Amino acid sequence: RQHMARGLPKQKPIPGVKEVIVVASGKGGVGKSTTAVNLALGLMANDQSKSVGLLDADVYGPSVPKLMNLKGNPELTDNHLMRPLVNFGIPCMSMGFLVEEVAPIVWRGLMVMSAIEKLLRQVDWGHLDYLVIDMPPGTGDVQLTITQNIPIAGAVIVSTPQDIALLDARRGAEMFRKVNVPVLGLVQNMSVFQCPKCNHQTHIFGSDGAKELAHTLNVELLGDIPLHLNIRETSDKGQPVVVSSPDSPEAEAYRNVAAAV
Ligand code: ADP
Repeated sequence: RQHMARGLPKQKPIPGVKEVIVVASGKGGVGKSTTAVNLALGLMANDQSKSVGLLDADVYGPSVPKLMNLKGNPELTDNHLMRPLVNFGIPCMSMGFLVEEVAPIVWRGLMVMSAIEKLLRQVDWGHLDYLVIDMPPGTGDVQLTITQNIPIAGAVIVSTPQDIALLDARRGAEMFRKVNVPVLGLVQNMSVFQCPKCNHQTHIFGSDGAKELAHTLNVELLGDIPLHLNIRETSDKGQPVVVSSPDSPEAEAYRNVAAAV
């Protein structure tokens, strides 16, 4: 598939980075960051020759430090660029590396924009085939700034099957279309609960909402991630499921998403 983003005049590529894939959601708590992390690891697992980086652009609630079990301040290179922190073979950058973990991030618009600019322009990624960006939830200024500043190969939208989350996801898809970012597809998260004891499956939020939305928006359904204790537990431990339980069906679900983008 073609990944050519139509470049807007203000857009400048990030040096060394071939393709940027953003992971977005209409609202918080739907599993966007968990998907971004496991997508990055899945891209690498599917093809070991690819180099993959992860940029946490959720400046208000950075979760990559916890999910990737990383903390500390990035070193500066001779060119005064920040060197990403690395775990599981993935170089990562996050606002969480630059501010105190417990400090409430109450920022005014301009400070947020300068933080985003720093994360986009002052990081030495080396060579990357893919840079996965964990976007903030919703469709605000930060998302627009990112889409206007760098060429983006495509957007992955994460949604639960609940109606309200789906509505917000639709708004997200429309925003990307407006700024000419191709929507690669939807990931339906938590549609089915699989009991870890008896493996019984329950469709807690209804079964096919995201499938129907994908159809309505004329985008692909990239995958279906079950609501599974293993995903929550491994995420909380900073041992993402794709690396900590590679043989599980949950890890396979994320690798399938990576194969579909
Ligand atoms: P968002 O980035 O959309 O705010 P997160 O990725 O932080 O959402 O996920 C919110 C919470 O839900 C986290 O505790 C995460 O571990 C959990 N979670 C996400 N996806 C799943 C899943 N498929 N199964 C179980 N827990 C999940």
